[in-house]
Amino acid sequence: MKILVCISKTPDTTAKIAFTDNNTKFATAGVQWIINPYDEWYALIRAIEIKEKDSSASITLVNVGGVDAEPIIRKALALGGDEAIRISHDPQESYDTAVQISAIAKDGGFDLILTGRETIDYLGSSVGGMLSEMLDLPYVAMATKLELTGKTATVTREIEGGVEICEVELPVVISCQKGMAEARIPNMRGIMAARTKPLKVVEPIAVEAMTSTLSFELPPPKAGVKLVDADNVEELVRLLHDEAKVI
Ligand SMILES: Cc1cc2nc3c(=O)[nH]c(=O)nc-3n(C[C@H](O)[C@H](O)[C@H](O)COP(=O)(O)OP(=O)(O)OC[C@H]3O[C@@H](n4cnc5c(N)ncnc54)[C@H](O)[C@@H]3O)c2cc1C
Repeated sequence: MKILVCISKTPDTTAKIAFTDNNTKFATAGVQWIINPYDEWYALIRAIEIKEKDSSASITLVNVGGVDAEPIIRKALALGGDEAIRISHDPQESYDTAVQISAIAKDGGFDLILTGRETIDYLGSSVGGMLSEMLDLPYVAMATKLELTGKTATVTREIEGGVEICEVELPVVISCQKGMAEARIPNMRGIMAARTKPLKVVEPIAVEAMTSTLSFELPPPKAGVKLVDADNVEELVRLLHDEAKVI
């Protein structure tokens, strides 16, 4: 069983969001980077659980990004990835990212290609679907559970008001979300081992971008809080009606 896990780098959830270059670029100065939580907690940890049951399984990590992605790749190796490939490129859109990953995946003989449900920064939720199309493989999105029997995967996914359980033959691309696995932290042995695990850096292939970003905008700052005296219910009702417009 060969598993490819797509690992993206995202700003820590506490990072201050700002833009540069006339609001066309995310300001990365001082930003703390983490593994996209959907990739780490669900895609990667489920892959590790599968490997724990099947010792012949192997986990390859792939990232499209610059050298600044290497710390998060090493962390993913410390958690339990066997080897990693960094495609040395700053992708500006999901399509570019998917093209780069598909170039690695197409001759890799992977049975399972796992992605996160979405990145928590650009929220594209599109790389998995694009990959499956480029690789001509089935795609199951937003999986909450994955069980394998031989070359058959049984995948549970959330749908409005319930769940859908589907069966699919490997190879398959699956995007993962909460429910797939329990988050873990790397142990000291994993951290030491990760230092010597192979991290191959490959050049990107030329891709013509299909979209371009005109500008980013921050949401308006939150309005100040108004304190209303506990006895002044009339004023509270007036504010809720006239200003907040919620009643
Ligand atoms: C305007 C713009 C500028 C950008 N500039 C840069 C930049 O300079 N440097 C940079 O590194 N990124 C940059 N990005 C982010 C990069 O393009 C994203 O990797 C890509 O847009 C995919 O994000 P998404 O939200 O569409 O992914 P989604 O479709 O939401 O991601 C789903 C899953 O796909 C996988 N995935 C997504 N991205 C990657 C990746 N890069 N490597 C491996 N797996 C991945 C993950 O498993 C993820 O959970 C930029 C994005 C935009 C829109």
